[in-house]
Amino acid sequence: MTFCPKCKKRVKSIKTRYGVRNQCCDLWSWGENVPLETKWTHHARKSAHEEFDKLWKSKLMSRKEAYTWLAKKLDLSKKKCHIKLFNESQCFDVERLSMKKLKRLEGKENGNS
Ligand SMILES: [Zn+2]
Repeated sequence: MTFCPKCKKRVKSIKTRYGVRNQCCDLWSWGENVPLETKWTHHARKSAHEEFDKLWKSKLMSRKEAYTWLAKKLDLSKKKCHIKLFNESQCFDVERLSMKKLKRLEGKENGNS
């Protein structure tokens, strides 16, 4: 059961054919017992994903390698390593780490990251 971060009431969960959608105020999330997203979290995840995707889209590493690297960096199991599950601060980490990693892959910066 989750509660709305805005009005603190119990969130309404509706079963749709795409899965469970939770909704209250102008916030929503997908999946059972998944906390509602604020617009900021939504935005943070989007930009984290953009930076992270550049790693494997650059072809300098495979998608699988990129996820393995990220899981290791964040000290998470690969199963839990999904940007859609991350909070804002984790998203900022992903963004920062990915930018650094890409630079290194492209050979613009030295060091172990
Ligand atoms: Zn609400």
